[in-house]
Amino acid sequence: MNKTRIGNVEVTALLDTPLLMNPHMFMPQVAEQMIAEYAHLLDERQLMTMSITTYLLRSAGKNILIDTGLGARKRPYFPQGRLDESLREAGLTPADIDIVVHTHLHIDHVGWNTIDAEDGSKRIFFPNARFVVQQREWDYWMQPAHLEDPANAYLVDCVAPLENSGRLQLIDGEQALDEHLTFIATPGHTPGHVAIGVYSAGERAVVIGDASHHPAQLDHPDWSPSADVDPVLSARTRELLFEAAIGDGRAWIAGHWQYPGFGRIVRLNGKRVFQAL
Ligand SMILES: [Zn+2]
Repeated sequence: MNKTRIGNVEVTALLDTPLLMNPHMFMPQVAEQMIAEYAHLLDERQLMTMSITTYLLRSAGKNILIDTGLGARKRPYFPQGRLDESLREAGLTPADIDIVVHTHLHIDHVGWNTIDAEDGSKRIFFPNARFVVQQREWDYWMQPAHLEDPANAYLVDCVAPLENSGRLQLIDGEQALDEHLTFIATPGHTPGHVAIGVYSAGERAVVIGDASHHPAQLDHPDWSPSADVDPVLSARTRELLFEAAIGDGRAWIAGHWQYPGFGRIVRLNGKRVFQAL
């Protein structure tokens, strides 16, 4: 059940790690309401059961990986990723990835870009990949104030090494990646955040990145997590994306919703509901 097909594009969900988030950390302003209303989406310790899932799109003869998870390094507050194993289970090696596309440049989306070589240098984990990043997102995170912030050490490990690798492609806005895939501007979580639209043989889907983190936001699109850089804009973006998905029935592919994160958003009795595929 970790695969689905959108027209001629095959989508494989590759789990980096399950993720348990404390609502008091994640959405402090609404944590009590979340716990009261969505107990069925929490574990026995009242933690939100989420995932860090990356998606492999086989499109136009290329293997395209959307985001790269948390990576192999030990980080405070986060589990270690296991995308390397998920790739292996899918019958692929890092060398098979032709293109890595980033929805944005947060720690849980860029982790496997590099691994530490024995001499301490950073080695790009996908030796044949081109890395596609939105210019706006790149410019935002590469500001000295962000790069030099010790809380953003991951930028130095996982993002900055792309700059002189000869494999970074910066893209401006809603450009197409190939005849099936296109960027959709979905700002708010970060300034240059994008979703990936899939349009193939009359079918459509959207890989939403972090435009939404949790199905409770279907009822409460304004429940913006503390990680959203612009919580007002992210709420507006989220609302638009939910309604677009209801409007045309596009498949909904959400890496932080519970693995594998494939489904559709429908309206039942006036309420937005997620139906897993
Ligand atoms: Zn994320």
